[in-house]
Amino acid sequence: MLITLKDAATKLRAANKILITAHIQPDGDAIGSTLATMQILRGLGKTAQVFIDDTVRKNLHALPHFDEIRRPVSGETFDADLLLILDTSAERLGNVRKLTNAPALNIDHHITNTGADVDYLYVDKDAAATCEIVYRLARELDAEITPEIATCLYTGIATDTGFFQFSNTRAHTLAIASELITAGVSPHFISERMESKSLAEVQGLAAALNSLKMYFGDKVAGMILDHATMKKFDSTEGFIDEIRVIDTVDVAFLLSERAPNVCRVSMRSKGVDVSKIATSLGGGGHVRAAGCTLKTTLDEAEKILVGAIGNALGVGND
Ligand code: AMP
Ligand code: MN
Ligand code: MN
Repeated sequence: MLITLKDAATKLRAANKILITAHIQPDGDAIGSTLATMQILRGLGKTAQVFIDDTVRKNLHALPHFDEIRRPVSGETFDADLLLILDTSAERLGNVRKLTNAPALNIDHHITNTGADVDYLYVDKDAAATCEIVYRLARELDAEITPEIATCLYTGIATDTGFFQFSNTRAHTLAIASELITAGVSPHFISERMESKSLAEVQGLAAALNSLKMYFGDKVAGMILDHATMKKFDSTEGFIDEIRVIDTVDVAFLLSERAPNVCRVSMRSKGVDVSKIATSLGGGGHVRAAGCTLKTTLDEAEKILVGAIGNALGVGND
């Protein structure tokens, strides 16, 4: 059932023990929004705990209260009266759903979120990040925005907008960022922490660039990384941005084999709606940034993906 942000605030006010979660393969918005909400709810005297069923890339480990995030273990349950799902629809939660039968409140900014398998959904596709919505929620709840909460929220907004460069950056996005800086955020400190990469990651980027393939008269650029290559580095964060910038390119993709027959797809576009392509392949996302997972061989995944992109562009098979 679709609800308003006011309704979402009312549900949170009425709850006492809240289990907070976000998507697997968590990004800055997933971790920033869950940690900020945990602190906001604790500030209102509630019990709040974040569970994420995945590892988190190192750049996010220094966020306030990061060490309190828990990963569900097999057979574990958690006593909650509300499950709060942030920055994703209910499909990408790993085993968190097994922790509780509490009603699920979902707050998200993905255009592809239909509210399946949740009780209440607040979705705002015009929010650049879920952290933007959490900021408005905090205002609705009359919660104090501490410097720690502001740091978490700013990180989510900055990372989901490519540091205020992508088309989702709007006047309200910058207005909220400005409020967060007033609340105590140090933007350059967060930028430096987020852009930091290990030597292995930079070497991985070199390997990824070597795998560059162009399709459909250079309108599409792809990087394809097999499992052996993927094992050498722990993150592909930002790789796709290096090829998205090619002047002839409309759609860029990164196809990475995470395990045998598990191929993860990231897409970015300058025009075409890649959320539709991702949805048609079982994933989702936004108009200009979307993703999915294809459970097949890398070669087959490339064929399926390039075929779907070609259809969306209205061009034939390459
Ligand atoms: P990424 O390429 O991983 O940065 O993802 C781009 C956008 O698409 C993000 O907003 C993701 O949350 C979304 N996305 C990625 N993979 C999926 C998926 N399998 N299902 C739904 N949304 C996804
Ligand atoms: Mn996210
Ligand atoms: Mn997000």
